Amino acid sequence: MAQSKSVKDYIRTIVDFPHEGIMFRDVTTLFADPRGFRMAIDQMLHPYAGVQIDKVVGLEARGFILGGAIAHQLSVGFVPIRKKGKLPGTVISQDYHLEYGEAVVEVHDDAIEAGEKILLIDDLLATGGTAEAGIGLIERLGGEIVGCAFIIDLPDLGGRKRIEALGMDVHVLCD
Ligand code: IMP
Repeated sequence: MAQSKSVKDYIRTIVDFPHEGIMFRDVTTLFADPRGFRMAIDQMLHPYAGVQIDKVVGLEARGFILGGAIAHQLSVGFVPIRKKGKLPGTVISQDYHLEYGEAVVEVHDDAIEAGEKILLIDDLLATGGTAEAGIGLIERLGGEIVGCAFIIDLPDLGGRKRIEALGMDVHVLCD
């Protein structure tokens, strides 16, 4: 009997994207498959059964696709963390370090109320810089992060350890 496919089997690797030497893990093939997408959403949510979650926060851009589906499944609201200059209302900003240079992410300053229980979502954890910046924004608004869930962790880049060192619960589906 054929083995059933795992989440990892739906992810494709594009060599030399966005530049030479990078192996880009492309989750659009996972999102495009009805079974794969459902499996990913269900597995991302699995550890949080029975845990109070008031809002799902997604990191731009693939965190919006996953986070929207997860928020719908939980019947809670969704909050986007976006790159600088994209959100129309009053925002708070957080700088973070990239491989080449600096970046800034933002959230609306009224998107999270103090004490709300937050699940943070993105597709992939590499160095952890993006997730750490997102955590900083959520915590500055008084949100209490109950978990950070990703499809993929790239262990060589240390992101998981970095986020766990902040006292966060990290859940990933595959390395
Ligand atoms: P980090 O900040 O170094 O952890 O990078 C993670 C961010 O970069 C996430 O928002 C990812 O969506 C994105 N990213 C980095 N590498 C890849 C990749 O190979 N595939 C998809 N997204 C990636």
